[in-house]
Amino acid sequence: MAVETLSYDVVVVGHGIAGLAAAVSAMQQGARVAVLERAPAEESGGCTRYTEAFLRLKNEDELTDDFESLLAEVGAANPDPDLVHTTTRPSSEWPGIVRTLNATDPEFIATFARETIPTIKWLKTFGIRFIPAYLAHITCRENPPLLAPSGGGHALIEALLAAGRAGGVEIFYETTARALIQDDAGAVVGVQAVGRRNRRSDVRGRAVILASGGFEGSIEMLHRYLGPSAVNIRPVARGGHYNRGEGIRMALAIGAAPAGDFGSYHANPVDPRSGRPEAKVFLFPYGILVNKLGRRFADEGPGADHRIYDGICHRIQEQPDGTAFAILDARINDIPEYGRAVFTDKPPVMAGSLADLAGKLGLPADALKATVAAYNAACRPGTFSATRTDGLATVGIDPPKSNWARPLDRAPFMAYPLISAAIITLGGLKTNARAQVLNADGEVIPGLYAAGALMGIYYRQYAAATSVLRGATFGRIAGADAARHQAP
Ligand SMILES: Cc1cc2nc3c(=O)[nH]c(=O)nc-3n(C[C@H](O)[C@H](O)[C@H](O)COP(=O)(O)OP(=O)(O)OC[C@H]3O[C@@H](n4cnc5c(N)ncnc54)[C@H](O)[C@@H]3O)c2cc1C
Repeated sequence: MAVETLSYDVVVVGHGIAGLAAAVSAMQQGARVAVLERAPAEESGGCTRYTEAFLRLKNEDELTDDFESLLAEVGAANPDPDLVHTTTRPSSEWPGIVRTLNATDPEFIATFARETIPTIKWLKTFGIRFIPAYLAHITCRENPPLLAPSGGGHALIEALLAAGRAGGVEIFYETTARALIQDDAGAVVGVQAVGRRNRRSDVRGRAVILASGGFEGSIEMLHRYLGPSAVNIRPVARGGHYNRGEGIRMALAIGAAPAGDFGSYHANPVDPRSGRPEAKVFLFPYGILVNKLGRRFADEGPGADHRIYDGICHRIQEQPDGTAFAILDARINDIPEYGRAVFTDKPPVMAGSLADLAGKLGLPADALKATVAAYNAACRPGTFSATRTDGLATVGIDPPKSNWARPLDRAPFMAYPLISAAIITLGGLKTNARAQVLNADGEVIPGLYAAGALMGIYYRQYAAATSVLRGATFGRIAGADAARHQAP
């Protein structure tokens, strides 16, 4: 049977914020656009569909003050200072090893900062409204709000989809891109895709924009890059299961430069009993965390919750079966509306005594009682303040607890099981500030763009509330650039 071949100007892989921003942007430049999407229509939208979409903005006209400095801070691990210094010269003078450095370059960050507010204005033209939004962490209650689209990421998807459809963008659901097609000179001129009943097709275009998210839905890539304990994690929401890393793999297969921290991911502590998107529980700083052996394994309060939960999740991943239990007591009621930090739809496990709690959780009772007794003995008097790091620390115990250390001695006791769930993976592709994918020698791969979560720009940790913006901003940039791209 002959392979079906379709032809467009621009082929977009993925239907999240990055893919739809790219498709609509290319359409507005007059391009004929196809979007390939693995999921069925009713489940499409990737991670974007499930996010509240906090945006690192003060309001519609202003970035947060730390926008660029934070991206620079997380944009490299231990980079070579001599190579970094080269980036003070114009980018046209950077040698290939600098263009493909394991660091997010200043030109990229400056473009991100410069184009974000115009992108917000652009999104508003599709009817999207932006509202102040407060993070759920108790330690964020006194912070100013960020911004979010009213209706979250789902509203972004719906608005851009409607605009794309109205403008003639063609969307192929249940169609998975598997490989890039190159011409004899190495330019990318389309993708090989596979649809229902494993039916192959070639979708050709002058340019291809990869916007297929990270690899949080691929156990093979998670294991390869994060190690064996990756078996313990799962995507934080249903959309992540569709992101299996082909966009990254197909580009690497033709020589693209990797970028970002392949060995890490941004995590949330979620209740494994719940199938709800983002079933997170942010209460452990106010109690203790124990593993299945009934032992503590980490400082539960080394800093403000919104800064430390990611690191704690990585520790949870390493515990037996990747599981921990947040153990709390009746003192949690001292925190007004603590339930606003709880997103699981499952109730906590409650018990009148630690022995009963251990029984209900399947933990060794003696070990849990001994752990709590040692912890209680290490607590000291002081003033508790849930909304800020209060310095109420344990003394003489390992691991210590640096804040919010109060004895667990008031029944009823309660517990939430927790696992680490992947919000986004950090490894991806190296692009320039125009979202063009670079090869491992720092040269542009003609016709190939990347936007959104498969751009590798974070090292060790994520910069909160920048990923949806990255998708929208670089999707818009990629779409406009790709529409203008002429095959050589
Ligand atoms: C629950 C949750 C909360 C979050 N909260 C925030 C937040 O508050 N702020 C923030 O900035 N970020 C947040 N994030 C992260 C952010 O939502 C994502 O990083 C961002 O939306 C990614 O957009 P994207 O378009 O790159 O990828 P996605 O939205 O994941 O879209 C990728 C699309 O590609 C499709 N696809 C994958 N592989 C293929 C293939 N081979 N062929 C065809 N199609 C394919 C998928 O089906 C999907 O539709 C959150 C994520 C989640 C899950």
